[in-house]
Amino acid sequence: MDLKDLYRDVILDHNKTPRHRGTLPPPARVAQGHNPLCGDQLTVYALMDGDILKEVRFEGSGCAISVASASLMTEAVKGKSQAEIAHLFKAIHDLLTRADAPIPASLGKLAALSGVREFPARVKCASLCWHTLNQALAGADAPITTE
Ligand code: ZN
Repeated sequence: MDLKDLYRDVILDHNKTPRHRGTLPPPARVAQGHNPLCGDQLTVYALMDGDILKEVRFEGSGCAISVASASLMTEAVKGKSQAEIAHLFKAIHDLLTRADAPIPASLGKLAALSGVREFPARVKCASLCWHTLNQALAGADAPITTE
């Protein structure tokens, strides 16, 4: 099995069996994201404990990439500080948008998203959940859109 097969398996697995799908009651912060290019709709719930993201959930409907990316994201960010999440966000942004960027081992399963590089139209599908989480962490109310 080469790396591409591995990546595809991770995406398929997280699309079929999304982790942390659902909602969280207040005082969890909520943000909504929309990717009009593809039609992906996402709502992210984030419960903070001080500076730590204690619990995270997402719901919505979208393509396989958007759902798998959100599922992978929730696994990666739960229990992390805002600074650690900001660092991951930057690493993911580089991973998705810079075709020549090396893939840091620290990304773990998130590296599966590097497969999206070959499909520029899908980059916004993969990054939607991260932008939406950022919005939730910022405590902003306005829905975000990738456009
Ligand atoms: Zn999509």
